[in-house]
Amino acid sequence: MTLTFKPFLLEFKHPFGVSSNIRTHTPTVFTRIEHKGLFGYGEACLPEYLGDTTQNTLQFLEQAKAIIDALDSSFDPKEVFHQIDCLSEGNNPAKAAIDIAISDLRGKISDKPFYELMGFGKSVPVATSCTIGIDDIAMIEQKIEEADEFSILKIKAGTADDKKLIETIRKYTDKPLYVDVNQGWKDKKAVLHMLEWLYTKNVLLVEQPMPVEMAEEMQWVTAKSPIPTIADESVKRLKDMEKAKGIFTGVNIKLMKSAGLTGAREMITYAKQNDMEIMLGCMAESSCATSAMAQFMKSADYIDLDAPNLIKNDPFTGVVYNDGKVILNDLPGIGVELKDSSFFD
Ligand code: MG
Repeated sequence: MTLTFKPFLLEFKHPFGVSSNIRTHTPTVFTRIEHKGLFGYGEACLPEYLGDTTQNTLQFLEQAKAIIDALDSSFDPKEVFHQIDCLSEGNNPAKAAIDIAISDLRGKISDKPFYELMGFGKSVPVATSCTIGIDDIAMIEQKIEEADEFSILKIKAGTADDKKLIETIRKYTDKPLYVDVNQGWKDKKAVLHMLEWLYTKNVLLVEQPMPVEMAEEMQWVTAKSPIPTIADESVKRLKDMEKAKGIFTGVNIKLMKSAGLTGAREMITYAKQNDMEIMLGCMAESSCATSAMAQFMKSADYIDLDAPNLIKNDPFTGVVYNDGKVILNDLPGIGVELKDSSFFD
């Protein structure tokens, strides 16, 4: 087999505002594993705040190349994942880029979509939430209009003005909301009061309301909350699921945290066995990683896979969106194709 990789800058259609800065690009590294004329594709998406860089990702992939290039047709995917995983402590996006490409290749070798290979079955189209970045309250009406096609909106909260933000949104739309607090609230009684209030405002779930360190307070809140609490920053990989059990209602699984599809599948299995809800999420990824995660849609309670909609120079085609729903195709592997076949040359 041959591993090739290429750094790339994904450009946002509209600059993406968060409290501290405005992002126009997200660095990413695409991978390709070739075997007997078949190509498996993968992606390491690297938003700055996660701590991984293009440089450390390329260094990791250079190390991984020795393992991948030595593989032949008889490889054991679990063993390969283990070998790659043991190369370092972190580098979860780089590990994901390898694991996604291997998964895609496995599908292509057996001429089956990856969801079928995993025994999940094909999901019907599912509504995804659409994140509306709100940095300026005056822009809310316009942002809501831009997300017209979507039936669920995801709002970034976590400031002292959150009630005002929700009330302003409710002037323009009654669509159900996911509210992502990104660890922004700290007083457990105030948090519970807020969740009770959000429940009356048609908020379906709240993501990571409190800081990772406040597990005890979070457990108290979840036990009394009228709406599900979903862990994001608190859970990266399988080992974190045990700690989150009983603390949160469910978990937001993302390929760039889980180190790929193999890790995500283990987390899904754990969640099912332990009665935890499952949200499938993404970074500002291309259709490559998003289409990979969409393979598991059938097993999820909530879908937050809107990233390709936000990007204007996506090198891949894969899942498509219609009426705010994510639609899988029947192509083998993760169901993606390069728009320009010379992309990796
Ligand atoms: Mg989140």
